[in-house]
Amino acid sequence: MKTHHLKLYNTLSRQKEDFQPLNPPFVGMYVCGPTVYGDAHLGHGRPAITFDTVNRYLTHLGYRVRYVRNITDVGHLQGDADEGEDKIEKKAKLEKLEPMEVAKQYTDTYHRDMQLLNTWKPSIEPRATGHIPEQIALVEAILKEGLAYEVNGSVYFDVLKYNETYKYGKLSGRVIEELISGSRDLDGQGEKHNSVDFALWKNASPEHLMKWDSPWGMGFPGWHLECTAMSSKYLGKQFDIHGGGMDLMFPHHECEIAQGNACNHQDPAKYWMHNNMITINGQKMGKSLGNFINLQELFTGNHKLLEQAYSPMTIRYFILTAHYRSTLDFSNEALKAAQKGYKKIINGLRITRSLEFQPADVALDEEQIKQIEQSITAAYRAMDDDFNTAQAIGHLFNLLKKINSIFTGQLPSAAFGEEVFAKLKNTYITFVEEILGLIEEKSDVQNPMLELLLKLYSEAKTARDYNKVDEIRSGLKELGFVVKDMKDKIDWAYEE
Ligand code: ZN
Repeated sequence: MKTHHLKLYNTLSRQKEDFQPLNPPFVGMYVCGPTVYGDAHLGHGRPAITFDTVNRYLTHLGYRVRYVRNITDVGHLQGDADEGEDKIEKKAKLEKLEPMEVAKQYTDTYHRDMQLLNTWKPSIEPRATGHIPEQIALVEAILKEGLAYEVNGSVYFDVLKYNETYKYGKLSGRVIEELISGSRDLDGQGEKHNSVDFALWKNASPEHLMKWDSPWGMGFPGWHLECTAMSSKYLGKQFDIHGGGMDLMFPHHECEIAQGNACNHQDPAKYWMHNNMITINGQKMGKSLGNFINLQELFTGNHKLLEQAYSPMTIRYFILTAHYRSTLDFSNEALKAAQKGYKKIINGLRITRSLEFQPADVALDEEQIKQIEQSITAAYRAMDDDFNTAQAIGHLFNLLKKINSIFTGQLPSAAFGEEVFAKLKNTYITFVEEILGLIEEKSDVQNPMLELLLKLYSEAKTARDYNKVDEIRSGLKELGFVVKDMKDKIDWAYEE
């Protein structure tokens, strides 16, 4: 394992902590996945890319990560509370489909979009409906502890009773008295003893589609329970990292902590990580605001707020240019800038791969070597400081300047020495592809076709057919490629 002092911000302790896994080199990481009743949108893209990068970097450092990300296919009700229709069931009724057809359809499109964003697949991707017995067992355990009660075939978590021994609200900083006084009398309380209580199991009405037999009659699990059931099954009663979007901190993650403590008398996760929210043109994203953009709309440009399509790698790069705990504002301007940045990085990747060390009788340039060493150290330090991809990208651009100066012949590679030259090449390629997950977006025939066109370009130039030369050059430019006419060769690059 590489000797790195990785620090990460723990939402639970509200400070940066040294990362010390419970059982190194193994790392257990659980991230709340999508509720599969609609197309994946930006609110899915950001946590997926954030925790993919965490997974990639930990793996790069030599840890063996078991990354569990669930699929919610039952129990998530409208409004995220304990009343209202199941989101998947509602969609199924609307479209005259089986709930499992809806879940399959949107699990497939989610997987497609996550693959386009070049995220690694999770090690395990469990579904809520596949873990009903485990969830029933948890409800029984919490009842046995005296921290839940049954009413009319539903079981609720007794938050006040729990709070006598543990502290409810410690993750989100919510204060229980304020939560109670904040809700109007009996508002949303229904059959609960108190408005702050939450459902572990819900009694199903006869027309409810997704329901299972239980000790309390036919019903279905409460939304928060699945994550406790699946994380403890695959990662143990306590594991290293629990991640998700900030919007899940309350009530979802707070309830997971309560459930974990109620059953196992310990916090389920050592480190809690939350990515911040996305805004669109400075506004919160919401269906009612008309600024709700799903990932496919971004990739195709098919949305009234979008001036053009933005490729999956542009989106990935854009998300990585901000630290995950900062808010990130999407606008056409910012996305166009990200497109330029991404193309610069990828042009750099192509150049870096093509560079070879040329031995020559020149002195080592100690100043240049020092600058390269500093940028490499700084890139790692940025990642070690709570996965600061924004800063790491800045240091990569410094390395790219050196790479470009070798490529254009300003600096001979021999001035860096063979070892530093190799380190420069390896670090750049490793950071771009392996750690940040940025890859070149191209079709299989792109490069051979470009080579062919450049051959025609070169022949036209030799024949002094300048009309043909201009035609090829401007035609390629329209397609997003620049012809690089150099002293001894002709090459191409993505237009930045
Ligand atoms: Zn969850």
